Amino acid sequence: MDFIDLKTQQIRIRSRIEKNIQAVLDHGQYIMGPEILKLESRLAEFAGVKHAVSCASGTDALLMTLMAYDIGPGDAVFTTPFTFVATAEAIRLLGATPVFVDIDPVTFNIDPKRLREALLAHAQTETGLAARGILPVDLFGLPADYDAIRAVAREHGLFVLEDAAQSFGAEYRGRKAGALGDAAATSFFPAKPLGAYGDGGMCFTDDDALAAALRSVRIHGMGADKYDNVRIGINGRMDTIQAAVLLAKLDIFPEEVQLRQTVAGRYTRTLAGVVTPTVPEGLLSAWAQYSVLAEDARHREALQARLKAAGIPTAVYYPIPLHLQTAYTSLGGKPGDFPVTEDCANRIFSLPMHPYLSAEDQERIAAVFLGRS
Ligand SMILES: *Cc1c(COP(=O)(O)O)cnc(C)c1O
Repeated sequence: MDFIDLKTQQIRIRSRIEKNIQAVLDHGQYIMGPEILKLESRLAEFAGVKHAVSCASGTDALLMTLMAYDIGPGDAVFTTPFTFVATAEAIRLLGATPVFVDIDPVTFNIDPKRLREALLAHAQTETGLAARGILPVDLFGLPADYDAIRAVAREHGLFVLEDAAQSFGAEYRGRKAGALGDAAATSFFPAKPLGAYGDGGMCFTDDDALAAALRSVRIHGMGADKYDNVRIGINGRMDTIQAAVLLAKLDIFPEEVQLRQTVAGRYTRTLAGVVTPTVPEGLLSAWAQYSVLAEDARHREALQARLKAAGIPTAVYYPIPLHLQTAYTSLGGKPGDFPVTEDCANRIFSLPMHPYLSAEDQERIAAVFLGRS
């Protein structure tokens, strides 16, 4: 059994992928070819935003957006410690400071009440840092609570950058992931809900000026042309071949998002008595992961060992919260700072999840999990 099965999808659409790649080999525009513009316009439409700016990875999408907002030393960006390292890394790469805020124990996403408290505390303390933005993560594919987060952002004059790396395809009260903040960043790493056959990413925004800055940052800070450089940028372009692969996958993506709902629903029904994920009213998860909570670290170890012995792979996202990561301890984080995050990091683990997981496999997973086989 695969933790994430990419093969079944490929068998379904292999000829379309080959045809799209063939077209790139024929026209030879490997950088910024026509597939790039086509993907950007289709994904902007899908997400319901004005601008989509493709780039080389989800990490670059975060970095480029922070660069377009002119984030640098002396700036504070409020984010979650319970995420993949790239979220805080993009902030640190620019010399800015991530300020961590603990999560909600039900959604695993940044807790808006604690965010409000953290911003009030920040305003009342002399830190030498200017609060500039909020970077919520839609962890495991479930959007954070954007109504509450955007209300806090408005009060403090901050931008909201949605880390939608895991949530493309998700929904929040009638809006799509990618459209939930002032800007968003997503990833097409192969294992993400919409995955390429290599690295890729996309920035989203309705803001014309920000989109223009993103397009400039993506190509070395170009101005009128690429040999006129008006700001510091990066080489952040997506390969045309990856756009060609994504265009083929996009045709079946809405159906795959639905299949993920079916798979997640089956887990939640069969795993009675286990702490399974909760999707708040009005939200739709993209189910990048199906993550459950064990009673404690030892229980998790035992469950993972039992599943592994039965040939069922599991994974822990994420075993070490960012404030406790070696590379981030210079920020002053210590155990006990974010109790909800630390508790989840000790107990959480993820089960196999992909659109093509069969009911039979899920029944077997549940039986082994519940100790019935
Ligand atoms: C995957 C991921 C990223 C980074 O995306 P890459 O395409 O791998 O660079 C950023 N944030 C989160 C939450 C992710 O899961």
